[in-house]
Amino acid sequence: MINYTERIALLMDDVCRRTPRLSFIDLKEVLIFGRFGRSHTEGAFATCHCLTLPESEPGYYFWRDRATGQLTRRSEWFITKSPQVRVGGTKIKYLISFVLPRFCDQSLDRSRKADLYPAGTPSWIAKLDTVIHELYHIDPDAAGIRKLIRADGTDSPHTHGPEFYKEVAEMVHGYLASNPDPELYEFLEHDFDALNSAFGGVVGTTFRNFPSFPQRFMQAVEMPVDPHVRVEPVKPPSQPVLYTADDLQMRQFMEQTSRRATRKGAHRAA
Ligand SMILES: [Zn+2]
Repeated sequence: MINYTERIALLMDDVCRRTPRLSFIDLKEVLIFGRFGRSHTEGAFATCHCLTLPESEPGYYFWRDRATGQLTRRSEWFITKSPQVRVGGTKIKYLISFVLPRFCDQSLDRSRKADLYPAGTPSWIAKLDTVIHELYHIDPDAAGIRKLIRADGTDSPHTHGPEFYKEVAEMVHGYLASNPDPELYEFLEHDFDALNSAFGGVVGTTFRNFPSFPQRFMQAVEMPVDPHVRVEPVKPPSQPVLYTADDLQMRQFMEQTSRRATRKGAHRAA
């Protein structure tokens, strides 16, 4: 089977080395993982998730009596923070997720990106564009996501200006013009059906709590509260606040579902 997230990581490594604007990226601090999403359905193809956003300021929820406007109850004070992800002693700063199999079937036709490429550009270039797009979200100052972000740390499709898309397309052209080894990007030329026929399956790294993955969570903090108001406790985080390599798991992605992939033998085939 083809390890799709590993192929993307290897391609990204080459892209960063050949693209001056991305050369600051240390891919050891970036983890690529798969999420499930059907092909030809609405939704993202990939997302860049930042784990370096600082803790939020303390806040709380409150409820008021509709008639009197009086505060009737409130939550504990809480902050929101990013979980930690550590793999092999390295603290991961960014996660980039690819939605499978949807991403495998992304094509330039009818995409807004089509205008950025000359007529006759092969359809799979849309995938290379997405790979570089997500890398371009990594902030050179390591201060979050390069462009505007939503409060939960993911990027919003409404926050990219037209410049962003243009610069990504320039980097795609630049990369292909630099004569990279076709073996590194060839896997993008195949759609999901073709990959399945050629490799007998598509697998990728996921987190053990799939379909969940490391996401911002709320944590209660001790702060003085008015003793006359009922205080609702903040729910403790339901997902890990620290992830390690032990929390990673391979899954096989299929058209309608995904399942845990188990390997035969201790060694993985090259
Ligand atoms: Zn984006």
